Amino acid sequence: MKFGGSSLANATRIKNAARIVQRFLPENKMVVVASAMNDTTDRLVEIGELARKGENARARKMTARAASTKKTRRELLNLIDRLNRDLEKTVEGISHLRELTPRSRDYLLSFGERLSAPILAATIRSLGLKTRALTGAEAGITSDERFGEANPLVEVSYHEIRRRLGPLLARNEIPVVTGFIAASVDGSITTIGRGGSDYTASLLGAALNTDEIWIWTDVDGLMTADPRIVKDARVLPTVSFGEALELSFFGAKMMHPRGVQPAAQRKIPVRIRNSSKPTLEGTLVSSGETQNGGRIVKAVSIIRSVGIVTVSGTGMIGSPGAAAKVFMALGSNNVNVMMISQGSSEATISCVVARKDVDNAVRALQLALLGQGLVDKVVAEKDTCIIAVVGSGMKGTPGVAARIFGAVARKKINVRIVAQGSSEYNVSFVVSEEEGPEAVRSIHEEFQLGNY
Ligand code: ADP
Ligand code: ASP
Ligand code: MG
Repeated sequence: MKFGGSSLANATRIKNAARIVQRFLPENKMVVVASAMNDTTDRLVEIGELARKGENARARKMTARAASTKKTRRELLNLIDRLNRDLEKTVEGISHLRELTPRSRDYLLSFGERLSAPILAATIRSLGLKTRALTGAEAGITSDERFGEANPLVEVSYHEIRRRLGPLLARNEIPVVTGFIAASVDGSITTIGRGGSDYTASLLGAALNTDEIWIWTDVDGLMTADPRIVKDARVLPTVSFGEALELSFFGAKMMHPRGVQPAAQRKIPVRIRNSSKPTLEGTLVSSGETQNGGRIVKAVSIIRSVGIVTVSGTGMIGSPGAAAKVFMALGSNNVNVMMISQGSSEATISCVVARKDVDNAVRALQLALLGQGLVDKVVAEKDTCIIAVVGSGMKGTPGVAARIFGAVARKKINVRIVAQGSSEYNVSFVVSEEEGPEAVRSIHEEFQLGNY
């Protein structure tokens, strides 16, 4: 069971999570994964930025807020005190050097989960159950050193997870593991990407070959669209792994992009449920056939905060290897490309990247490509978002794209870039950030996703 930040947002929510564990324990053995409380990780990100800029007083003030807790038992209090002091020292170090490296940033971000997991474990213990709080590293999750987006070394991790958690489970102890964080082989703390607690849960489930993986969150399940954007969005009772993969990758916030991957590989069903309404079944993500009521499109999601970087030059026309040079320049500067388009004129290549990477991408492309007769211009746009339309019923059905773009056009929304994944589960396109929500609503309406 993984509890998301909103399910651990305060003392009441944490007690509620503990009671959910208690409720399902009699007929199960389980491993619990804890996210950081509420938006702690966002605040740690801010604190890091403040410290890097040398805004010590503000950083310190926020640090105190990030770590404040109510009265708890002595042992837990001591641990929280220790973590708080360590956190303060970390922030001080960053502001002293005015340097926030990917490594120190991961160390800083790890405090969210390192605080929440022991608190949740203690709360479960107070209900009379045996628990043990563990960091991702203590649970056996080992990763490479790509700080910020570290990749778990799957086979080693699976082996270590079984070795370390197996004996606890055999003694009926409930391991409560920090989501989101792992450690490199030499023991440095790494994080596995924002929203990574889903991924942690999936890895642990796959390693231990659990019957199911449950993700407790603040909505009734995976829905046809973000309920904050579409009022009549509806819960999907079943979703295939393929669809979940497309949705979570493009849905950005709902789930970690690789969140279901380990579960999908081992065909372990994933349930997404509302921690405020534990009697609801939620959404079942599995390798089985999904009921879609003959519907073509299943859901539509939005990924915000992306930008477009376009390189153009007549020199690229008919020049083999031009695209390779573009992607090489981006890849070697650690810029992840989310979408690509090249027109058949071959005179331009556009790449969609995260907004935070746009400046870096432009610089990398200018340095690598200008002045060689290939590329004349590199331009960027920053205020865009991706809309992804997902559904396994789209495969081989003609006319879906026409309906999608017809609906968007009727709202007078300009489409910048289009891509269809070869899985045929997904048509995605880019519009201005401002028009994104309206584009989502127009597609939701066109395919009547709100109706049963
Ligand atoms: P957690 O803290 O449990 O990890 P997140 O905030 O990461 O929760 O994800 C849950 C939120 O994702 C929901 O509150 C909802 O607003 C948003 N969301 C976006 N798209 C969807 C969707 N298609 N279905 C359900 N929720 C969605
Ligand atoms: N706390 C981390 C984040 O906010 C991981 C997670 O919640 O899944 O990204
Ligand atoms: Mg999440």
